[in-house]
Amino acid sequence: MSKVKVAINGFGTIGKRVADAVQMQKDMEIVGVSKTKPNFEAFTALNKGYSVYAPIDKIKDMEKGGINTSGSIEDMVQVADIVVDCTPGGMGEKNKALYEKAGVKAIWQGGEEHELAGFSFNATANYEEALGLDFARVVSCNTTGLCRVIYPLDQEFGIKKVRVTLIRRAADPNDVKKGPINAIVPSPIKLPSHHGPDVKSVIPHINITSTAIVTSTTLMHLHSLNIEMNNQCTTDDVVDLFAAQSRIRFVGQGITSTAEIMELGKDLDRPRGDMWENCIWDKSITVDEGELYFFQAIHQESDVIPENVDAIRAMMELESNGARSIEKTNKAIGL
Ligand code: NAD
Repeated sequence: MSKVKVAINGFGTIGKRVADAVQMQKDMEIVGVSKTKPNFEAFTALNKGYSVYAPIDKIKDMEKGGINTSGSIEDMVQVADIVVDCTPGGMGEKNKALYEKAGVKAIWQGGEEHELAGFSFNATANYEEALGLDFARVVSCNTTGLCRVIYPLDQEFGIKKVRVTLIRRAADPNDVKKGPINAIVPSPIKLPSHHGPDVKSVIPHINITSTAIVTSTTLMHLHSLNIEMNNQCTTDDVVDLFAAQSRIRFVGQGITSTAEIMELGKDLDRPRGDMWENCIWDKSITVDEGELYFFQAIHQESDVIPENVDAIRAMMELESNGARSIEKTNKAIGL
């Protein structure tokens, strides 16, 4: 069977990781990636053997900068079965007409609105609903992390109400422009943050309220969750349920912070030190007076990567069963 041809529009933090993860799968391959500048990431793409494309008005600058392009983004879209749009949040919207014109399927990321694709994806929660779709949006790193715990808890015990506070990293490690460097910023000040409503774009019936705070760190987000359940459960029941989820990792062994989790990612020889799983301190899991509490850390640069691979598999109908797709993706990337 020939492999599904995947193009990555925007080879940045998310795009380069999705490209490498796709290339590791047996049933899909990268046919091109796009860059707007001839920077180190463009050279990395070429060195990895990816064909590099650019916006038509940037091709000359790319060539001057030493990057031989394979053509324009329009050309790239023509040779793909599906495009994963990883351009900066809010920019992907402008590309929809291009994908529609070329008759190519497209996946956007969490920086775009739900309405752009009309379907928001999380492999654990709604893989089967994405089968054969032309457009989908893989929800953000935080929403992905929330869906991975909320969906199985709701299936098993029925959720009455979720309350979550997200302590967010200010910027990605390579981001030299953003702050704050010495402040804690309620963001937004007016409640709720967008994360709760975003979870509802994947699991509509969940009753959830979220608040968020931005802190001076680049190493992961941290979620403090409090969940009221409809049915009785114990701490051990929740530990057992989470232990059975392949994209949840328990952290202990002296790990007391996001910094040590990122170090573990490097020690595990993960590409770029990535931590694809929700990292939950199993000792934090507590059921008290019928309410569940726990802490989880989310690696913003990488938890959505396996989700993008699963979204491709669902939309291209390479696998009808979500659990089997998750297994294939995990195995190929070494999760
Ligand atoms: P980024 O800025 O790291 O990368 C974006 C890439 O797109 C860059 O390579 C840039 O050169 C390229 N680009 C810019 N304009 C372009 C254009 N007009 N056409 C083609 N390419 C263009 O951004 P990112 O962090 O990878 O974010 C991409 C998407 O993923 C956003 O929707 C974001 O919200 C979402 N997301 C980001 C994170 C994260 O923590 N970084 C986590 C989950 C989801």
